[in-house]
Amino acid sequence: MGLSTEQLNTSRLRKCRVVISLIAMTLIPPVTLADVISGFDDVTSETQLELESRYDSDLEAAELDAWLRELSSRPHHVGSAAGYEVAKRVHDLLQSWGYETEFADYEVLLPTPKVRELELIAPQQFTAALREDSVTQDPSTSVRDNLLPPYNAFSIDGEVEAELVFVNYGIPEDYELLERYGISVAGKIVIAKYGRSWRGIKPKLAAEKGAIGALIYSDPGDDGYGAGDTYPEGPFKHASGVQRGSVMDMPTYPGDVLTPGRGATKRAKRLARTKVEVITKIPVLPISWRDAEPLLTALGGEAVPKDWRGALPITYHFGPGPARVRLKVEFNWDMVTARNVIARLPGSEYPDQWVIRGNHHDGWNHGAADPISGLVAMLAEAKSVAALARSGSPPKRTIIYAAWDAEEQGLIGSTEWAEHHAQELKQKAVAYINTDGNSRGFVGVGGSHSLETMFNEITDKVRDPVLDVSVKERLFARLKLSGNEQQKKDLERQRLRISPLGSGSDYTPFLQHLGIASANLGFYGEGSGGSYHTLYDTYEHYTTWRDPGLTYGITLAQLAGRVTLRLANAPVLPFEFGGLTDNIELYIQELEVLAEKMRKDTDKANELIGDGVYGLALDPTKSLGPPKEHEPVPYFNFAPLQNSLASLKRAVTELKRVQLKGSATLNQKLFTTERLLTLQDGLPNRPWYKHHIYAPGFYTGYGVKTLPGVREAIEQREYDKVADEVQQLVIVLDGLAQRIREITEIDSE
Ligand SMILES: [Zn+2]
Repeated sequence: MGLSTEQLNTSRLRKCRVVISLIAMTLIPPVTLADVISGFDDVTSETQLELESRYDSDLEAAELDAWLRELSSRPHHVGSAAGYEVAKRVHDLLQSWGYETEFADYEVLLPTPKVRELELIAPQQFTAALREDSVTQDPSTSVRDNLLPPYNAFSIDGEVEAELVFVNYGIPEDYELLERYGISVAGKIVIAKYGRSWRGIKPKLAAEKGAIGALIYSDPGDDGYGAGDTYPEGPFKHASGVQRGSVMDMPTYPGDVLTPGRGATKRAKRLARTKVEVITKIPVLPISWRDAEPLLTALGGEAVPKDWRGALPITYHFGPGPARVRLKVEFNWDMVTARNVIARLPGSEYPDQWVIRGNHHDGWNHGAADPISGLVAMLAEAKSVAALARSGSPPKRTIIYAAWDAEEQGLIGSTEWAEHHAQELKQKAVAYINTDGNSRGFVGVGGSHSLETMFNEITDKVRDPVLDVSVKERLFARLKLSGNEQQKKDLERQRLRISPLGSGSDYTPFLQHLGIASANLGFYGEGSGGSYHTLYDTYEHYTTWRDPGLTYGITLAQLAGRVTLRLANAPVLPFEFGGLTDNIELYIQELEVLAEKMRKDTDKANELIGDGVYGLALDPTKSLGPPKEHEPVPYFNFAPLQNSLASLKRAVTELKRVQLKGSATLNQKLFTTERLLTLQDGLPNRPWYKHHIYAPGFYTGYGVKTLPGVREAIEQREYDKVADEVQQLVIVLDGLAQRIREITEIDSE
């Protein structure tokens, strides 16, 4: 299979290279590499840069490839024999390189499927296979010991039978449109496409609307034959492929569902399962498009609007009925041991300041892309960092490498460790740097904006492995070509704007629960496909379609390793607050734009409803009912926020005038600034989430909501809460300004 696909990849890359180099030459202003790195002076910068090139020389693609092949040779979910073997292997490697290693075990609730049944019982009979096919070209797909069949973890048990309704992606705006068509899902089973929201939102919303069961399927228009050639001829989703995944209500709290806010040690106090709020309210099952097609074909009612259609060769209808389905799911609600691997390299000068670097090791199946492709980059990094230490350059701060277990079911291993060690972490953690599945193409950096300057310097330094430019130049070239309006405007800023983090990987407990500055790194854009959380996320798929030769695996190790080493060695930690205030300012502007847009849209809709012309004005479909009438959107007072921001910016300007001198106290004051962006009471309806600048959306899931308290109060039309939430943000910004003045004074003394 190798040759033809490799040739395809090479020619595609070559074409891309020509286009991008031209753009790089003509449109992008030259970037000069600074010789002095943030946090280092002339002398220490030189030492650090020399250390980094020694670090690079120890990274070997062949080694990453061998680890990838080995660690993804079998399905290895949490609690499985293969899962413990992967943990043991990672542990033994880290120990052999000289780390102080331990297993950090937690006892957690893990549902695995006992019964999965889905049938169409009217207007004709069809029984869903609920099984993924092995493909001969990929031997890994026949390795099925420990294989978890397709299911959604943390669905409740249940058997339901009802008419079916198609709800598009099952996001709030889809239900608004259903209401205008006069279609209710109360008492029905919904079928939703994967995509446009985190999957757990779909059953959550369906249950809120009165549905009694939910099916989620992957439409071939999104990641199957409508997107490109399917596996094994191409990377896109096989007809039988099913995306597994957790549907735990993670925007409320992630981690072990029985022990919110505390580590799931053997003796921890636990909730009764019946008291757990983050398990779904209705039974849920994910299915392939091959199983979904007969169900969708049997739906009657009106044809759906254009943007609801997928790529199946049928007319998509809303229902309800005459399709009637029976869904039954039952799970083994077992307690299993989630086994994290923790490896320490003590700091030579500041052992009580910890730089934490993590990637999970558990996979839904073989998990070649997710998570092993990221894990092997981290292993390469750990090996090279240990070699530097042995050769006389130990890190000044303690470095902790963590390979997490049970990420897939709800960030469980990392959350339990973070909750268990919360007090110590709040004092000692400098930052948490995460990777997960990697791919190839463009650099992706999300994280705390106090680290934005550091990330700009590092992405200037790290070279793209295919094109003769830095990874930042390559990204800028893409944004210049096809970025959105804001991204194009950002190019004038002459620096990479890192994305704010929502959720979706193990940084969440560190950033949003404990207030530890965090980042998530990876490459994306060219190795897409449909293997995510399916049987087809194998070594063969990954090395054919995503990152042949693990070239970008090396680049990821170069990127993340620099982050670790700079944070570990900087005499003055490279936290910088101009980037942070600049981003907060943007988010405040977005709030104003959001409020103004909602005000105008609401007024316009209400006016049309009053005139009775909505049908023609908004959509010519004759049966479309009026949009929902809403109370007018009031004007909000953002002035307190503006004033706090202005005062914070003045404090930041003052700080820039002083030359900071590294000391344990100063650095402690610097890295704990992120803690000040959290408040003990947390966010409305979800006290576990304490960060007031970044949170996953309550109704979007992984997608980030910045300034979440205020933004969600507006979006959810809870206008009377806006002033209180503005006040919470004022407390946060004033606290940070106060700290920055203290830091300025330390060095003026
Ligand atoms: Zn993952």
